[in-house]
Amino acid sequence: MKVTDHISQANGKTLFSFEILPPLKGQDIKSIFDNIDPLMEHKPPFIDVTYHREEYTFKELDNGLLKKQVVKKRPGTVGICAAIQNKYQVDAIPHILCGGFTKEDTENFLIDLDFLGIDNVVALRGDAVKSEIYFKPEKEGHRYASELVSQIQDLNEGKYLDEELQNSSKTNFCIGVAGYPEKHMEAPSLDSDIYFLKKKIKAGASYIVTQMFFDNKKFFAFVDKCRKEGITVPIIPGLKPIATRKQLNLIPHRFKVDLPDDLIMEVVGCKDNKAVRQVGIEWCINQSKELVEAGVPILHYYSMGRSSNIEAIAKEVF
Ligand code: FAD
Repeated sequence: MKVTDHISQANGKTLFSFEILPPLKGQDIKSIFDNIDPLMEHKPPFIDVTYHREEYTFKELDNGLLKKQVVKKRPGTVGICAAIQNKYQVDAIPHILCGGFTKEDTENFLIDLDFLGIDNVVALRGDAVKSEIYFKPEKEGHRYASELVSQIQDLNEGKYLDEELQNSSKTNFCIGVAGYPEKHMEAPSLDSDIYFLKKKIKAGASYIVTQMFFDNKKFFAFVDKCRKEGITVPIIPGLKPIATRKQLNLIPHRFKVDLPDDLIMEVVGCKDNKAVRQVGIEWCINQSKELVEAGVPILHYYSMGRSSNIEAIAKEVF
């Protein structure tokens, strides 16, 4: 079922959802199920599965030269989605990227998803590969998520890359896209970022999931700005509880989001990471309760592969 239908059937009640990462190559799928199992009692209508593009590593050869190798450290997004739908009978939502995909790859990926009975996708650009500063699309790929949304929307209208295909079947994907309450790290301003967000909606996206934030005021201001710009689709807040002291530096660096001083000082005052985890849970419970009060359609949690803190939050909020 489409995310937008889940929202309308909930009649104003805030739903619970979360995102998982495929396991590192070499690990089995049990680790994923072990994380999902305890969260199922809170009845998520869907579970997102992230996509991880290839990375480049350099291996030193006997002659001293370096050989470039392409590695995908977390493959399996599509397989995990199929397994989730099969095991839990809930919608699984794969993330799909511009990065590393040609338009042909994208079309074939979408055909697989359609055949598997997947109704939703989150369309993203992806980040630059680690060895490069700026994002580079494939030669026959998309530069921005809005272009990817257009391709998915074309397929929803039965338009394949091969224009000579006759009577081709239409897909029916509900498309989600990313939004950034504190602006995307490369955007010159929040206004310009929202301008391009609107392009993704115009191209066919039906809902927005936000980057994590730790201060609800930023989310509320973002929603207000989007509404003023004429964006009417549901905006789903993305939340992540802080779990380690290291994340105080890592999160602002990696995601370019601010942490409120009160939260920072609480974490700094913790004697170990067990205490930090508890602070993170309590902070996230307070954020969640305020967002439910404000009537958000869904609370979407970034589990980052470990669910015990999300479980503790869900118990208090849902
Ligand atoms: P875009 O919407 O293309 O925007 C990228 C930048 O370009 C922005 O600064 C925007 O303002 C600007 N821009 C957009 N269109 C134009 C234009 N026409 N001209 C000029 N500038 C433009 N990454 C993964 O690798 N895998 C995942 O599974 C994944 N899941 C995510 C889920 C969520 C909810 C979020 C918030 C992020 C996720 N990411 C994931 C990270 C995401 O790929 C990065 O944040 C990426 O840098 C931007 O993706 P985007 O889809 O927002 O890009």
